[in-house]
Amino acid sequence: MPTVAELIRNSDQPSFSFELLPPLKGNSIRKVFNTIDQLKEFNPLYINITSHRDEVVYKPNAKGIKVPHVYRKRPGTVAVAASIQHKYKIPVVPHMICSGFTRSETEYALIDLNFLGIHDLLLLRGDNSNRHDFVKTSEDSNKYAIDLIRQVSNLNNGQFLDGTFMEPFETPFSFGVAGYPEKHEEATCLEADILRLKEKVDAGGEYIITQMFFDNSKFFEFVQKCREAGITVPIVPGLKPINYLSQVKVLPEIFHTQFPEPLTRELLKCSTNEDVAKVGTEWAIHQSKELLVNGFNLIHFYTMMATKCVFDIAKHVY
Ligand code: FAD
Repeated sequence: MPTVAELIRNSDQPSFSFELLPPLKGNSIRKVFNTIDQLKEFNPLYINITSHRDEVVYKPNAKGIKVPHVYRKRPGTVAVAASIQHKYKIPVVPHMICSGFTRSETEYALIDLNFLGIHDLLLLRGDNSNRHDFVKTSEDSNKYAIDLIRQVSNLNNGQFLDGTFMEPFETPFSFGVAGYPEKHEEATCLEADILRLKEKVDAGGEYIITQMFFDNSKFFEFVQKCREAGITVPIVPGLKPINYLSQVKVLPEIFHTQFPEPLTRELLKCSTNEDVAKVGTEWAIHQSKELLVNGFNLIHFYTMMATKCVFDIAKHVY
C-alpha cells in the first residue's frame, strides 16, 4: 500500500482530502460516517482525523459557584481513524499532538496505531490557546512539533523512550506537518516561521498541509518563499468554506487569517447563515479552481460543520 505521502507526490489529477473531528464525548460515530458517506463519491485521496487535548469547562458546584472541570471533549482519534479505515478502506491520517499528551502516552498511541495498520500521521504541536492555561502541560510532553517528529523518528529506528532498542516496526510511520501561509500566530515573521517549517521537513516531514487561507495570492507567495528556503516537499493548500455568520468574525481571530476585500464585501451583505454559506461556497470554488489551474491538484478541506458546502464545491470542481 502506498503511503499518503506517496499518494500526494503522485497526485497528477485533481483530487482532495478532508479533515474530520472525532465526535463529542458520548456521541455516536454515525455523524462521522454520514460525512464520509456524502463525500466518498468524489474519491477522497485520504481522510485526516484531528486530535484534541483536555479542556477546561466551568460548571456550578453545589453552592452554585462555577468551578473548573478538566476533560477531553473529543477523545477517540485513534479508534475513529481505525474504524474509518476498516469500514471505507480509505487511507486515514490521524493527527498526533504534543500538548496534553505525555511522551509515554504518545508512544503507546503509536504502538496501537502500528498494530492497527495505520502508519500515516500528521504531527503537530497542538493548540496552545489561553483557554488551556488551567490545564497543566506535563514536563514529560513534547514541546514543539519538531520534538514529536524526533520521537516518531526514534521509534521508526526501533528506539523506545526508555532507551531500549527493539526490532523496528515492519512499516515505519510516514508523516506530514503543518504550515502557515500567513505565518503562525507566535512567529515573529513569515521568514522565521518558514525556517522552523524547514526544520520539520528536514527532520522527516514528507509534505506540508497549510492552515486555512482565503487569499490565494498569500498561499502562492508562501509556496515561493518555501521553495526559496529550500523546502522541496509537496505543499497542500487547506481551504475552509465559511458557512456561519459567526465565522465572519471568529475565523480571522482564531486562525490568524485575513479575508480579502472582495470576500469581505460580499460577506457584509449577508444576514443569514444561508447567505454566508452561499458566499463561502462560491469563494471556495473560485479558490479551488485557481489553485488547480496553478498546478495544485490536491486540496485539503476543513469540513467541520460544512459537509454540505464541501459537497457542493466537490460537485463543481471534481
Ligand atoms: P510548531 O511547528 O511546533 O510551531 C509552533 C510555533 O513555534 C511556531 O510559531 C513556530 O515558528 C515556533 N517554533 C517551532 N519550533 C520551535 C523551536 N524549536 N523553538 C522555538 N520556536 C519554535 N491542533 C490541534 O490541537 N489538533 C489538531 O488535530 C490540529 N490539526 C491541525 C491541522 C493542520 C493542517 C493545521 C495547519 C493545524 C492544526 N492544528 C491542530 C493547530 C496547530 O496545532 C496549532 O496551529 C499549533 O499552535 C501549532 O502547531 P505546529 O505543529 O505548526 O507547531
